[in-house]
Amino acid sequence: MIRLDGGSGRLRPPEQYGLEVLIDLSRLLVADRADCDLVRLNVLDRQSAGSAAADLSFQAALERANGEVRITTAALRAVAEVAGGAIEQRCGATDRHGRVPSAENPLVAAGQSRRPVVSLLATELRRAVLAVADRRPVRCVAPWPEGHRWAALVTHDLDVVDRWTLFSFLRMAELGLKGKWDLMGRVGRAVRRNLRKDPVNRAVHSILQLEAHHSMRATWFVICADPTIRTMLAGDSTYRPQGPAARRILTALTQAGHEIGLHGSFATANDAKAMADQRRNLVRLSDAPVMGVRQHFLRMQPGTTQQHMLAAGFEYDATWGFADRNGFRLGVADPVPAWDARRETTLPLEVVPLIWMDRALSKYAGVEEPGRWIEDARDLMRECKAVEGAWVGLWHPNTVEALGFPGAEPAFVSLLQALADDRPYLASAHKLVQWRRFRRSVRAARVSADGRVLLTTTAGHRTVIALEDESGDTTQVQVQTGRTGGAA
Ligand SMILES: [Zn+2]
Repeated sequence: MIRLDGGSGRLRPPEQYGLEVLIDLSRLLVADRADCDLVRLNVLDRQSAGSAAADLSFQAALERANGEVRITTAALRAVAEVAGGAIEQRCGATDRHGRVPSAENPLVAAGQSRRPVVSLLATELRRAVLAVADRRPVRCVAPWPEGHRWAALVTHDLDVVDRWTLFSFLRMAELGLKGKWDLMGRVGRAVRRNLRKDPVNRAVHSILQLEAHHSMRATWFVICADPTIRTMLAGDSTYRPQGPAARRILTALTQAGHEIGLHGSFATANDAKAMADQRRNLVRLSDAPVMGVRQHFLRMQPGTTQQHMLAAGFEYDATWGFADRNGFRLGVADPVPAWDARRETTLPLEVVPLIWMDRALSKYAGVEEPGRWIEDARDLMRECKAVEGAWVGLWHPNTVEALGFPGAEPAFVSLLQALADDRPYLASAHKLVQWRRFRRSVRAARVSADGRVLLTTTAGHRTVIALEDESGDTTQVQVQTGRTGGAA
């Protein structure tokens, strides 16, 4: 529990965004009014030390004093630059798919993309507050519902439905070019075995079964654009969303209670109307709410594409991951509000960063052993767990032997087992977003002289939240919409 010392009114918009994101990620409860002494959080004017990554280091960003923690404006601006994606929004460079190249990302440039540096700074902020508190009461909101200490979100992008053999042959060509003759042979034999079958549909059902075993509800991003010769050659839209095969899959997904999101085709990156049309069509075809979007190939124009997403009515964007490596593109292992760098304003759109995907190591680092992909996933799970954040993974349903990936299916089984073993809060993307919006909105409207708090929220998602005290003991506390609240 902290008091923000007056001066935050003089902060510039990116600094205000940075402060809000850090406090949110720290889980520290902010008190609007207190009848007892609380730890104060002050902002310290400071020039940048040269780079956003340098400004985010604990030593540069934080100072401890008696009953007070200070954070520099340079660190707050760096949060907007990194977690708000401002640097990438200003970047004009593109790769051959029209994406901002990873090398332009400030954390890749600083060699820090494998650690959630912004989440780590928020954790250090909480430590600093606890360290200077002395007898002042400190309260934090619980990271996730039902006592979970971290969260995991499993997502699937439905890239292949019709004409699956085409993808098998493309992949065999890729394996041939890499000299992986043994794998190529295995794929060829699997293609022959599956010729009259539908391995994609079978893979979807196998995923649903495995996830049901762990009581997981995944989030599926589905392409909803009619294919043309041009889109097929580009690897953009290759299946008819209203065709029988795609309809069968959509029905299976919604019947299993999984979430459907839009996998925005290439056109949607720069076309608000295409984005809105595709969302509307997907709602109609799936007969389900479509609250989130992830761009196919992660193709987007940072900042602009998010405006199209908002205009189309989306609540969250799950695109922010690296196409060619795994890690933390925004330096956070958690959903954060989207930042519009050009207008210097926070958007009513949640960003759910993508942290790991099945094919990153295979496609770009030539690692063809699925077991090693899972090792990489586990490394990143540890990072997310350490900051009590959310791990977001992507497994393509076409990552099966007949479509070019021998050994992938057992690897997926071990991925789910690794997740389940560590007891994360497992929920769909929309559920994670709803929880984080609620958690972020909780305030101590008042703290009485004996340290009891009255909680209020402006986002009426739940009525109770667990509060943790200095020693980590938790109490369930009523939260009320408006001015009055429960006491603890
Ligand atoms: Zn895709």
